Amino acid sequence: MRKDDCIFCKIANGEIPSETIYEDDMFRTIMDLGPASKGHALILPKQHYRDLCDLDRETAEKVLPLAAKIGEAMKKSLDCKGFNVVQNNGKEAGQTVFHYHVHLIPRYEDGPDMVSWAPGKADPEELKQTGAAIRSAL
Ligand code: AMP
Ligand code: ZN
Repeated sequence: MRKDDCIFCKIANGEIPSETIYEDDMFRTIMDLGPASKGHALILPKQHYRDLCDLDRETAEKVLPLAAKIGEAMKKSLDCKGFNVVQNNGKEAGQTVFHYHVHLIPRYEDGPDMVSWAPGKADPEELKQTGAAIRSAL
């Protein structure tokens, strides 16, 4: 399924030009226009899925191996020492384009300093209750 007013559907299917680094029959991987670091790329499925929870099984099975392949290429071709795989689901989680996509963000010795949080302190009782709440919804 494609969505008429979705910019990533148009980019993924080649109707809007992009700096493409990988393409097959299911995915296009492009350079992000607002990069967090040099080489920041986005994996876009050609079909429209809102987010991770909407994804079909075949796409879900293929997307992480593709992320690994492109991450390896980043490590070989750029001077990056590692990379983050980031994927936002929902406005509150930072999703701004509601067509599922995976960010691949190369990380260099000098930064950028990102994709981090200050660890909180877990309350054992709260962990138990929260764990139970999620388990019961599975
Ligand atoms: P998210 O916040 O996870 O929804 O990420 C959306 C990402 O898409 C951001 O990193 C934007 O910089 C990027 N982006 C938005 N429009 C375009 C575009 N036309 N071409 C490439 N990247 C884009
Ligand atoms: Zn779309």
